[in-house]
Amino acid sequence: MEQLEQNETTGMATGRRTFLKQVLLGGGVSLLTAVPGVRLARAAGVTEALLLSCMDYRLIDDTERYMFERGLRDRYDHVVLAGASLGAVTEEYPAWRETFWEHLEISIQLHDIKRVILMDHRDCGAYKVVLGTDLSKTPGFETDTHALRLTKLKGQISERYPQLAVETLLMALDGSVESVG
Ligand SMILES: [Zn+2]
Repeated sequence: MEQLEQNETTGMATGRRTFLKQVLLGGGVSLLTAVPGVRLARAAGVTEALLLSCMDYRLIDDTERYMFERGLRDRYDHVVLAGASLGAVTEEYPAWRETFWEHLEISIQLHDIKRVILMDHRDCGAYKVVLGTDLSKTPGFETDTHALRLTKLKGQISERYPQLAVETLLMALDGSVESVG
């Protein structure tokens, strides 16, 4: 990975992409095969989706359960940003946006994902912090506010990666999930 970082600092986008493929698809597997007992499964291969969700501790288990119930256990990459879609589109934290796009790119290269699942949630603290208002008091407005960010991010993803399906979801505090946007 040191080589990878070194390569990245050169800013050679094409070289980096090739290099990533070599290291993470080719080199990564070779490395693992050299270690007895290390599972090779999913070191390189096909994964269904990339999930973006919030960091909120209350919904970690619900989010995992939701993915399992959809049959996606061990079949998704997972990026966590406070606010989920908000974290990926807000002007307040540009580094978070960058982090999301970089992870999505690597997820595509490594695991050939087919879809991106954007999972916001109600009563989200990040939305309170960034927007300065408690949306949980007005559920309808809360839904619209999330839908706006989710839809915006979905549009950006579809523009960059038209081959990917994008889902825009909102989880309630009881773990139930609705499609919005
Ligand atoms: Zn949150």
